[in-house]
Amino acid sequence: MKKRKIPMRKCVACQENKPKKELIRIVRTPDGEISIDHSGKKSGRGAYICNSQTCFELAHRKKSLQNQLSTQIDDSIYEELKKQVSETRE
Ligand SMILES: [Zn+2]
Repeated sequence: MKKRKIPMRKCVACQENKPKKELIRIVRTPDGEISIDHSGKKSGRGAYICNSQTCFELAHRKKSLQNQLSTQIDDSIYEELKKQVSETRE
């Protein structure tokens, strides 16, 4: 069996490199909408973040997501994302 290299991505909040599938992809779609990309296949500019409230709060405070996605992100969007994170958590 061929050994596969695990794709790693860096979390925008804590700056840690983690396997891509352990991270959440936030995407800015071409029409400027911010959403969680569960499939990992949405087009648009993406940012990766850990599946944790801590990292979302950190990203919120440091404005990491808007820097990465070069767009304004409203507090309400952060709240929405945080809510979705807690819901998707196993
Ligand atoms: Zn993180």
